[in-house]
Amino acid sequence: MTAKILDGKAVAETMRGEIAAAAKELAGRGVTPGLGVLLVGDDPASRSYVTAKEKACEKAGIYSREIRLPASASQQEILDVVRSFNEDERIDGILVQLPLPDGDMEDGVISAILPEKDVDGFHPINVGRMMLGMPAFLPCTPHGILHLLKRSGITVAGAHVVIVGRSNIVGRPLANMLTQKSELGNATVTICHTRTKDLASHTLKADIIVAAAGRPGTITADMVRDGVVVVDVGVNRVEDAAAKSGYRLVGDVDFETVKEKASAITPVPGGVGPMTITMLLHNTVESARRRLQEQRNG
Ligand code: NAP
Repeated sequence: MTAKILDGKAVAETMRGEIAAAAKELAGRGVTPGLGVLLVGDDPASRSYVTAKEKACEKAGIYSREIRLPASASQQEILDVVRSFNEDERIDGILVQLPLPDGDMEDGVISAILPEKDVDGFHPINVGRMMLGMPAFLPCTPHGILHLLKRSGITVAGAHVVIVGRSNIVGRPLANMLTQKSELGNATVTICHTRTKDLASHTLKADIIVAAAGRPGTITADMVRDGVVVVDVGVNRVEDAAAKSGYRLVGDVDFETVKEKASAITPVPGGVGPMTITMLLHNTVESARRRLQEQRNG
């Protein structure tokens, strides 16, 4: 069996068209969706993520305003920018690009974002609401994975999903969403991490594997059963003398061998990545819709 490729780029493109139409409609009613972006420091990967997000905003008709601070910025300077975005009526969503140069500041900065503008879905209030199954901004990467599966015709309800990775931005929120009694949920979930004994004994029982470990070669062909669906979240740089940049991007899954056993698999790049940005646009437009509703309610 050679797997069907789960084309995140194509699904994202379709969804971005729908989001652009919604943004246009809102703008026609006087509410142009707006995203405030804060980039601290000059990490090249963070800079390129921010540029990609801003370009996607522009294409979707979402206004974006970027503020950059040097890596030496104090927590107070960062909080001042967050406060200015909180108070700016044109800003519906706030994106603080992570990681911050000083990781110890992250909890305080995320908590300072107004929960109703927290389009990354990282604020403790949104995380709590998600956990309780209440309306909330859902974190973009896990939410994007669920939409990619749904639009590719893969049913998660009743499936056994094995997630490799338990981070706050991917593994744990994904497990939470998948176990909700909801349209995108109703799966049975196993979460694995570095203290899991015999990882393969779990992945071999999976209907769907989600690899979010951040390590190339975490999932190899001997660790999957025939017909499995594989979602590769990992984005890893590996040296490649043949590439112009000197490196290439690979996921956590040994794509070439696993695709011969799987029924469906995401590529890297072009799988989960484009869906993550799409869900950020989705949340920003959703927030603008609420702003319009509030204006109408006076
Ligand atoms: P993270 O915070 O470093 O977490 C990695 C998780 O994987 C940890 O829970 C770790 O276990 C577990 N893990 C690592 N090696 C393992 C192994 N050999 N076996 C079992 N578990 C293992 O990473 P993250 O932020 O979730 O990101 C994961 C990957 O996804 C990265 O490559 C990142 O670049 C990528 N990513 C992509 C997108 C996208 O949009 N495409 C978005 C977010 C992240 P412990 O908890 O025990 O340490």
